[in-house]
Amino acid sequence: MRLLHGGHVVTPAGVIEGGSVRIDGERIAEVGLLAPKEGEEILDCAGCWVLPGGVESHCHLDLEAGAELTADDFATGTRAALAGGTTTVLDFATQFHGQTLAHGFDRWMAKAEGKAVADFGFHMAMTEWKQDFAAQMGEMPGRGVTSFKLYMAYRHSMMVEDDDILAALTASAGFGGTIGFHCENGRLIDALVQRALAAGHTTPHFHAATRPAVLEAEAIDRLAVIAGLAEAPFYVVHLSSAPGLAAVARAREAGGAVVAETCPQYLLLDVAAYGGPDDDRLESRAVVMSPPLRTAADREALWAALAAGEVQFVGTDHCSFDLRGQKDKATDFAHTPNGAPGIELRMVLLWSEGVAAGRMDPVRYAQVTATNAARYFGLYPRKGALVAGADADVVVLDPGTRWTVTRAALHENVDHTPYEGREVTGRVREVFLRGHHAVVGGRLGDELPTGEYLHCGPPDLSIA
Ligand SMILES: [Zn+2]
Repeated sequence: MRLLHGGHVVTPAGVIEGGSVRIDGERIAEVGLLAPKEGEEILDCAGCWVLPGGVESHCHLDLEAGAELTADDFATGTRAALAGGTTTVLDFATQFHGQTLAHGFDRWMAKAEGKAVADFGFHMAMTEWKQDFAAQMGEMPGRGVTSFKLYMAYRHSMMVEDDDILAALTASAGFGGTIGFHCENGRLIDALVQRALAAGHTTPHFHAATRPAVLEAEAIDRLAVIAGLAEAPFYVVHLSSAPGLAAVARAREAGGAVVAETCPQYLLLDVAAYGGPDDDRLESRAVVMSPPLRTAADREALWAALAAGEVQFVGTDHCSFDLRGQKDKATDFAHTPNGAPGIELRMVLLWSEGVAAGRMDPVRYAQVTATNAARYFGLYPRKGALVAGADADVVVLDPGTRWTVTRAALHENVDHTPYEGREVTGRVREVFLRGHHAVVGGRLGDELPTGEYLHCGPPDLSIA
């Protein structure tokens, strides 16, 4: 037995000041005002926040993207996650063209099993739509997959059409699943990109310029109509803009069962990172991701919505490509590998810019970094909260430490971080995964636990 003793313990019912968490093996035995027992190992948590281990709702590890493979696989990506206080990752098992869903699932299980050091589960991403996918989707809950993903963007590679979306949503509603959508109007983006390239515009500035926020909003509005026809719940992955947020609000007002995820990059970074039309710095390619970074006003709108319960959880869309050897090879923005890293810093960035900066309280922090995703993806109460009987996934965060992010100090297997040089308040001091003490005194241990595959249950649609 081990007692995490005398901290600010964040539970679904509120903060227990001077509270403790008792760990028995892989589970939480008790949470509350607890006196140490004889013979138990005591970890002093005075002055620290004791939080549920993070649940990463959105990452891409070991993903093939065209000719490129992401820099992080399940070994390095989950190691980085764990170092940063994320104990559960939900990755996108991906069905590529011509494959069955089961084949995509099996491939991803082979990528993750035995390599992951955080617990992991899968969403099923479908890069096309075929008649028999409805039946194939229905078989996925038996494998522990209850959430799916479709792309309204990336024309000619992954984009699906409105009638395909209707068929997929009808199928998922039929067995009580949900679908996350990449919401951008792929046809119009394709037209804008072709126009920009024809005019000789190749720099990262035009990545953002050809994917305006109104095209995110349009996709969400259209999706809400389709979901209404299907009477199906859905969620918006990586919501990036104030217009998109307004569309989510409209969908909700119309009675839609819609949930939204945003990412640290849309909360912390903005469009200035792309530079001007003539800039082609490597650092600007680092933030070529879709949707693109938006304005400072969009950022503040997302923070407010996150605090107010209009955006429910934060995933990173961690999709890491090296600047040198991958992103630098592209001849224009449209062919630059899309994505950025973030899996290791999610918890601390949200703490620093969310809680320490006064935008949300620690209870809301726990909801948006852990509890809500665990509930929505059917992992609660095993994951996502400090409650008796749950897996002993615990983060001890020291709020007093200020430090500066450098790529060299991270465990991500990629040659840059978009947060290089950022001053951060708060440090992940201890991390437990199912009782295994993985981060000790701020340092990732040498012997790490083996990540377990998590069977996701039906989505809890009531999260806010
Ligand atoms: Zn993604």
